[in-house]
Amino acid sequence: MPDKAQEFDVIVVGGGPGGSTCASFCSKAGLKTLLLEASKFPRDKVCGDAISGKSIGILRELGIEAEMQNILHGRVNGVLLSSPKGTLLEVPIPQTFKDRESYGYCSRRMVYDNFLFQHAKKLAVTMEEFRVTDLVREGSQVVGVKGLDLKTRQEKEFRAKMVVGADGANSVVAMKTGLHEVDPNHSCIALRAYYEGITGMKNLIEIHFLEEVLPGYFWIFPLENGLANVGVGMITHDLRKSNKKLEEALNNAIQSKLFRERFKDAKLIAPIRGWTLPFGSKHRKCYGNGFVLLGDAASLIDPFSGEGIGNAMTSGRTAARIIKQAFEAGDFSEAFLKKYDATLWQEIGPELQTSLMLQKVGRNTMLLNMIISKAAKNKHLRDLISGMLVNEVPKKTLADPLFLLKVLVS
Ligand SMILES: Cc1cc2nc3c(=O)[nH]c(=O)nc-3n(C[C@H](O)[C@H](O)[C@H](O)COP(=O)(O)OP(=O)(O)OC[C@H]3O[C@@H](n4cnc5c(N)ncnc54)[C@H](O)[C@@H]3O)c2cc1C
Repeated sequence: MPDKAQEFDVIVVGGGPGGSTCASFCSKAGLKTLLLEASKFPRDKVCGDAISGKSIGILRELGIEAEMQNILHGRVNGVLLSSPKGTLLEVPIPQTFKDRESYGYCSRRMVYDNFLFQHAKKLAVTMEEFRVTDLVREGSQVVGVKGLDLKTRQEKEFRAKMVVGADGANSVVAMKTGLHEVDPNHSCIALRAYYEGITGMKNLIEIHFLEEVLPGYFWIFPLENGLANVGVGMITHDLRKSNKKLEEALNNAIQSKLFRERFKDAKLIAPIRGWTLPFGSKHRKCYGNGFVLLGDAASLIDPFSGEGIGNAMTSGRTAARIIKQAFEAGDFSEAFLKKYDATLWQEIGPELQTSLMLQKVGRNTMLLNMIISKAAKNKHLRDLISGMLVNEVPKKTLADPLFLLKVLVS
């Protein structure tokens, strides 16, 4: 029999970037918050480890931006792209943005997620090694969760007015509320490997549209002390259709003309691991009576860049705001929580739609060849891509068919 249920205002399931952010903001808003996590931190998460400006903005709001400097990370000063026919294009991030020094970060999730979780731990009640297995309901209202304490093997139940599903791509909360879906056209499968000793690393995020991995891409992201995150990803539907094996594609990329010399003395230092990326190119419902979903549980990953940490943290912050309003209104109904979906999609929806258009460009070999070789010669186009890296220039410009046409005929 489970113990007598403990009561909270909010239960957050999952202590990744979305859940830790949401638990921190809920606690700051004065709500008694419980954060439940199946693993024990520090824990690994399969990822490219690139942390965008969007995430840094939220760290700033949480008051921990400066502390980010103290955790292990690689500094990113720009992007290196290559086209299927092998043209290389280096685009720097502008040195300053809005009077701040601007550069990007790559930080292993073992490090970055632990940083976020430990911050949440200072504010909320946290429990690691607790796997949520089901929801507690009263009629149609979600009023808590049950699960297994993995240390004691004891079943436990916790109750709250609000349950937040931040438990990733295979979210139990999404499954138990009937909102989980894997759409092969709106998801990607990717592999990640950690290497040391790759030569020619220049603090650049490298994205290579190689023949060997098309219609996907091959990446090399710089980490601390000469380490690199290397991977390959492809839209699930494309992968099935192409009959490609991702691990084979990854090896072919490493052995390709452009890379074999750079990987000559490189050493794989951990097993290659794969995971699914649920894309936000399809708007999935993310709320109901007494609960909301965020991050990968709500399918919010950028369908062009594969970036999901920023949107997970954004949705965590937005959810906390709306949950606070639900407490003020004393209303935890689906009708009230629809506001979360509306507010979130107003904020991230247009960018996700633009990224879907860019994704289509990225799957067109001819367009990729033309744009990358034009940009290699055209400063205006390079400046545009550079501005986009700090959100100064809306991505929309680059996805605009008229703009693309002008570039191609210029
Ligand atoms: C190969 C790959 C490369 C990627 N590259 C990038 C990148 O470079 N940059 C970027 O921004 N994004 C990247 N992403 C996407 C990014 O990893 C996710 O979008 C991000 O982790 C989502 O955060 P989250 O908090 O929603 O979920 P997660 O980070 O998945 O966290 C969910 C947490 O919930 C816990 N949990 C799960 N089930 C339960 C349960 N039943 N009970 C309790 N706890 C549970 C898990 O242990 C986990 O800690 C990549 C993804 C992949 C697969």
